[in-house]
Amino acid sequence: MSIYQIKLSAKKQIATGTMAFSFEKPLGFVHKAGQFADFTLLNPPETDAEGNIRGFSLASAPYETHLMIATRMRDSAFKRVLKDLAIGTELTMDAPYGSFTLHNNVSIPAVFLTGGIGVTPVRSIVRQALHDKPTREILVFSSNKTPQDAAFTEDLSQSQLANPKYTYISTMTDLPASNVVTTGETGVINQAMLAKYISDLTLPIYYLCGPLGMVTALRAMLNATGVDDDNIRTEEFSGY
Ligand SMILES: Cc1cc2nc3c(=O)[nH]c(=O)nc-3n(C[C@H](O)[C@H](O)[C@H](O)COP(=O)(O)OP(=O)(O)OC[C@H]3O[C@@H](n4cnc5c(N)ncnc54)[C@H](O)[C@@H]3O)c2cc1C
Repeated sequence: MSIYQIKLSAKKQIATGTMAFSFEKPLGFVHKAGQFADFTLLNPPETDAEGNIRGFSLASAPYETHLMIATRMRDSAFKRVLKDLAIGTELTMDAPYGSFTLHNNVSIPAVFLTGGIGVTPVRSIVRQALHDKPTREILVFSSNKTPQDAAFTEDLSQSQLANPKYTYISTMTDLPASNVVTTGETGVINQAMLAKYISDLTLPIYYLCGPLGMVTALRAMLNATGVDDDNIRTEEFSGY
């Protein structure tokens, strides 16, 4: 790991209360899809007890030319400052960290179970795998309250037809709150939903990502289904 100076190059809203921030990739920076970085605001106009550093998964894939993160814009000093940063502002990035990365054995399917903003490292892993042409089966189950809350839906769904080994399943847990009618999945990710798409539930390696409560609940559901803890990998977003 090293500390890099990075420059904000773009920012945009990508879902309800959710923004993506892009940065110029520093020369020589290399990361594995799924890893995260610690970002430090330099001389922010305000700060609070949580300080000026936050960890964010890199949502950009290694092959992409820019770095990108995405976050729920809660009302913390860090996020108020981040939201208002002018394009071109410098931050420091301490990276790369983490081992939430794809397993090596391509005969074992990878199944991602994500909720809300937990989709960030999954975008990186899936975009990289699709870029490299997937040699293993990859399934993504992405859970959100409503379609308006769901980040990166297009990025994750658009390559499905061209990649028979890749399946994207989006589920909505509070559809009545939106005015959308769907033929897709609704409700939380559970054993019955997984069983519709996976013939042997004990075979894949499962990747769980999101706030701690969600990761804990999904692990319990998988354990109850007979999935061994050795086949479960997690990235817990502390701070939610
Ligand atoms: C490996 C890793 C990867 C991560 N990746 C991402 C990512 O890709 N995207 C992302 O958004 N986050 C990610 N996080 C979490 C991130 O680091 C922050 O902790 C999180 O975004 C919250 O930051 P904050 O400034 O909103 O809250 P903080 O100011 O850090 O607040 C932390 C505490 O205050 C409380 N709190 C603050 N605001 C509220 C509120 N509005 N409602 C309820 N409680 C509140 C929380 O309970 C929490 O305990 C990651 C964390 C880790 C460890």
